[in-house]
Amino acid sequence: MHIGVLGAGQLGRMLALAGYPLGFRFTFLDPTPDSPASQVAPQLTAAYDDPKALGHLGTADVVTYEFENVPDAAAASIEAHTRLCPNSTALRVSQDRLLEKSAFRQLGIATADFANVTTRQELEIALGEIGTPSILKTRRYGYDGKGQQRLLQADAGQAAFDALGQVPCLLEKLVPFARELSLLCVRTDSGQMAFYPLVQNIHHEGILRVTLAPAPSLTPELQRLAEGYAQKLLQHLDYAGVLALELFQTNGQLLANEFAPRVHNSGHFTIEGAVTSQFENHLRAITNLPLGDTSIRGSVAMLNLVGNMPAASSILAHRDVHWHDYGKTPRAGRKLGHVTMVANSEAERSRMLTTIEPILVDSGALPPGVVPPGL
Ligand code: AMP
Repeated sequence: MHIGVLGAGQLGRMLALAGYPLGFRFTFLDPTPDSPASQVAPQLTAAYDDPKALGHLGTADVVTYEFENVPDAAAASIEAHTRLCPNSTALRVSQDRLLEKSAFRQLGIATADFANVTTRQELEIALGEIGTPSILKTRRYGYDGKGQQRLLQADAGQAAFDALGQVPCLLEKLVPFARELSLLCVRTDSGQMAFYPLVQNIHHEGILRVTLAPAPSLTPELQRLAEGYAQKLLQHLDYAGVLALELFQTNGQLLANEFAPRVHNSGHFTIEGAVTSQFENHLRAITNLPLGDTSIRGSVAMLNLVGNMPAASSILAHRDVHWHDYGKTPRAGRKLGHVTMVANSEAERSRMLTTIEPILVDSGALPPGVVPPGL
């Protein structure tokens, strides 16, 4: 089986590494040479809309992607030649916050109140409806907290709209959430579904820093609620592959923020911390193989290494702590690798975090104070 992948970053690299034991072959397409995936599989170095490169990728048995800003024309070109998984509908909905939030609303999935803003007049109407505090977000191309402005007062609205370039936006009510969660779920072409336990995510400056799996104090009711949301979304999109649903928890309620139609950073813990990794399950799903067990092996934490890398030896000296280096050149704010620790209990996970966190902070891979004491 030959799998084509749009994008050759660390997600693609981890997909290939999970696919080799299954006997799969990979070709990546990415405009940037010497990408993380190119170190483990062949890469076509060309623009995402390059007809020749897309024609080549279209000879694969199935094509998938590791980022959601795949141009429409590229998706259409692939679908004309072979299967694109997840399909172009999922891609289109995930690319536009208005379509995404409207789909949630249509499916009865709770979200923050929102309103569409394309003009200054619409912004005033939206501010009247939604009020403040709120967040103005560009409908497209936002990532890692970019393309958004918090509004504490309505009279700051027009300046925020200007700062975002007056592109189409969504005004969203600010949710006073207790914590951020995500649900990794997976569906095969033939409709089999599986769900990982909910995980808790901690962000700093818009970038994911820590994932705790399962989320502390996870109840069956919360898990059922999240799975109910995901099931509706997966069926609605006729989805094949892994999908990450990002959620805010407020008391017992879950509000959907957004979904990523791909393997996700908050699922990296599954490589060592779950029976089947998100990467393997994504590949199983898009090739219509039976899905693997999504159980978590104990209490797991994943910490991203951002901007700087500690010495591998300082991490690997510790039992049950796993090291991932994406082979990237260090740069401020860049995700360079991650560390996963697999513990037998929440108490042991806390102890491991207390040992590993200072090593990451000392090396500059994790800002101080991001991991709350006693987590
Ligand atoms: P997003 O680009 O939508 O994932 O937003 C990035 C981050 O901003 C989220 O992970 C939250 O921490 C925060 N955020 C986004 N939308 C809201 C909201 N409606 N209320 C509160 N915080 C939000």
